[in-house]
Amino acid sequence: MGLGPMGRAMVAALLDRQYAVTVWNRTPSRAGDLVARGAVLAPSPAEAVAVNEAAVISLTDYATVYDVLEAAAPALQGRALLNLTSATPEEARAGARWAAGHGAVQLTGGVNSPPSGIGKPESATFYSGPREVFDRHRPLLEVLTGRADHRGEDPGHAALLYQIGVGMFWTSMLSYWQAIALARANGLTAADILPHADETANSLTQFFAFYTDRIDAGEHTGDVDRLAMGMASVEHVLRTNADAGVDTALPAAVVDLFRRGMEAGHATDSFSALVEVMGKPTD
Ligand code: NDP
Repeated sequence: MGLGPMGRAMVAALLDRQYAVTVWNRTPSRAGDLVARGAVLAPSPAEAVAVNEAAVISLTDYATVYDVLEAAAPALQGRALLNLTSATPEEARAGARWAAGHGAVQLTGGVNSPPSGIGKPESATFYSGPREVFDRHRPLLEVLTGRADHRGEDPGHAALLYQIGVGMFWTSMLSYWQAIALARANGLTAADILPHADETANSLTQFFAFYTDRIDAGEHTGDVDRLAMGMASVEHVLRTNADAGVDTALPAAVVDLFRRGMEAGHATDSFSALVEVMGKPTD
């Protein structure tokens, strides 16, 4: 259900493996090529859900899921809703309760792959919700993404892990767009800075590994870096962008976080202390 770029790639992967697939989409014309390959186009969500025990849901958001499935509610009894629609953890939990109220079960999925990765062995999806539903549909889930990773019964947990990854993706990609904007303002192309950007991005995993144990131990010792040094550095980044006349919203937000760390008394701690500034205040 849902033939956006993701749903279309999923149906194509299932057809490649000789699955019999019924599809439904608000805009039926998007099903044309998939129907030509053997998919059956259902005229309504209820008729789509009625065909098989499992329905893969790939819609824009949960508001859309309710819009689509409310009308199909009587057909949901006994069905497994393999819901790969992006959601917050709370939305996913509410979706699971809503499904249970209609006699269905929801398995939440968070796909860690763009449409081009669907059907590929190296792609992965986190799932959470009833383990027996996951086990029963595992072969199908492994067609959609090679690695189907069950992370517990809480239907919100897969959504949490997914949003952690997606948050890193958007902010990291924005840092790359910022780098390109600054490079272009100085007469360089995106291609010119690609090797430098690759090296910088690849170095980050070493920093993750170095800081993780310290953070879990509550340690922010300023032995290899100090927030005050970082404060001066991020101000240089901000001024370099301002001097080049490019947008400074992103570097200014970074400076603001460092400044709040300084004001909270972390000047001589590692900049990892910003985790405490950014986290939920403890009582
Ligand atoms: P899109 O938003 O492009 O399309 C999803 C589907 O939602 C389409 O079939 C669209 O129908 C349908 N839809 C939207 N609004 C309504 C509505 N009011 N009523 C009925 N149907 C509606 O999403 P994607 O295919 O790109 O992604 C699907 C999900 O997967 C999203 O939750 C996304 O966050 C997630 N995701 C996407 C990735 C990506 O790279 N694209 C990567 C990982 C996860 P119609 O064709 O009629 O417009």
